[in-house]
Amino acid sequence: MNYNKKTVRDIDVKGKKVLLRCDFNVPMAKDGSGVITDDKRIRAALPTIQYLLDQNAAVIACSHMGKPKGEVVPSLSLKPVAKRLSELLGKEVIMADDVVGPDAKAKAAALKPGQIMLLENTRFEKGETKNDPELAKAMASMADVYVSDAFGAVHRAHASTAGVADYLPAVSGFLIQKELEIIGGALASPKRPLVAILGGSKVSSKIGVINNLLEIADTIIIGGGMAYTFSAAQGGKVGDSLLEADWMDYSKEMVEKAAAKGVKLLLPVDTVCADAFAPDAKSQVVKAGEIPDGWQGLDIGPETVKLYCDAVKDAGTVIWNGPMGVFEFPAFAKGTEAVAKALSETSAITIIGGGDSAAAVQQLGYAEKMTHISTGGGASLEFMEGKELPGVACLLDK
Ligand code: ADP
Ligand code: MG
Repeated sequence: MNYNKKTVRDIDVKGKKVLLRCDFNVPMAKDGSGVITDDKRIRAALPTIQYLLDQNAAVIACSHMGKPKGEVVPSLSLKPVAKRLSELLGKEVIMADDVVGPDAKAKAAALKPGQIMLLENTRFEKGETKNDPELAKAMASMADVYVSDAFGAVHRAHASTAGVADYLPAVSGFLIQKELEIIGGALASPKRPLVAILGGSKVSSKIGVINNLLEIADTIIIGGGMAYTFSAAQGGKVGDSLLEADWMDYSKEMVEKAAAKGVKLLLPVDTVCADAFAPDAKSQVVKAGEIPDGWQGLDIGPETVKLYCDAVKDAGTVIWNGPMGVFEFPAFAKGTEAVAKALSETSAITIIGGGDSAAAVQQLGYAEKMTHISTGGGASLEFMEGKELPGVACLLDK
């Protein structure tokens, strides 16, 4: 999937009313105090918002938050987002009490060029996740142009992410543009060799990614919990490690397919295994496929680290999805950290996709060293699977 979509620079937004779909689905403190614990997603939207305001557009921003399932859930109100956005912009953000109700409509109608308002949580409306055309039409009726910058939501065909594009000229903001350029570019015409590092917990959640990357990568590296299903499929002993018995045949096929295609597929040669799934578990390093009963693999071993770091050294592009071990436990984060460090030291284009992988790279302190960390967990996965992204497909072609 390679998209060549119009951006906010390709159409005239001067003085126009712009419906801007953002991803303001930020984490909030669990105590209901309305404190935003990480405002990264709000900051990420600033360049597009600032551009629109500089163009003297009247910006009607919208987003979902959480899963209110079509009901008004006060703890999922976007009011705290409006407050934070206002602080970041140094400018008033007018908050609507509803999505397409009388308050939103009145405020949108009164909105002046250079002003910004925020609609309430789009998922307070039942029609949002059903991509209801009536809701899409009502949202569109408030604006002249639709700009989408919510990469984290483009894999969903909802009223505010895709439906509205049926009623308004639709283009991307800078965030989506960057995701399309970097991830899309790496998938369509990668600087070679292209090395894909795949890990995380389960084979079953990464089948689409493995399938698609087998078609385009030069090397595939397997780590994380999914490696034990590959190991078991080859007759290895995996003890109590994460194992998806139903996917053993598939894993075998993937190894055979890689061999037939001349794709180098690397599997762990050793494992750090533990006597329990716990941060302070007793651990030992064993050869891959020789995990004793009662033990479970929680990280790749030191020989594997060497092998994998060596494999990315001369890469042109590295796509990484899925941590190499249970990085949430410091004792089992070494493999993930070593790979992150190796990526930070290559001259390759380095792309991190997947929510936990992005969190791992951030937590380990290598975020600044990567070419691109995708802002969309699920969306970046579906992109790497080669699936169509409805929230991108609906935008105008260049
Ligand atoms: P992403 O969100 O980047 O796509 P996943 O959700 O597929 O990644 O996987 C991330 C999770 O995989 C992490 O929570 C990590 O603890 C877990 N994981 C990695 N290795 C193992 C392992 N050996 N055993 C169990 N869980 C693992
Ligand atoms: Mg995940």
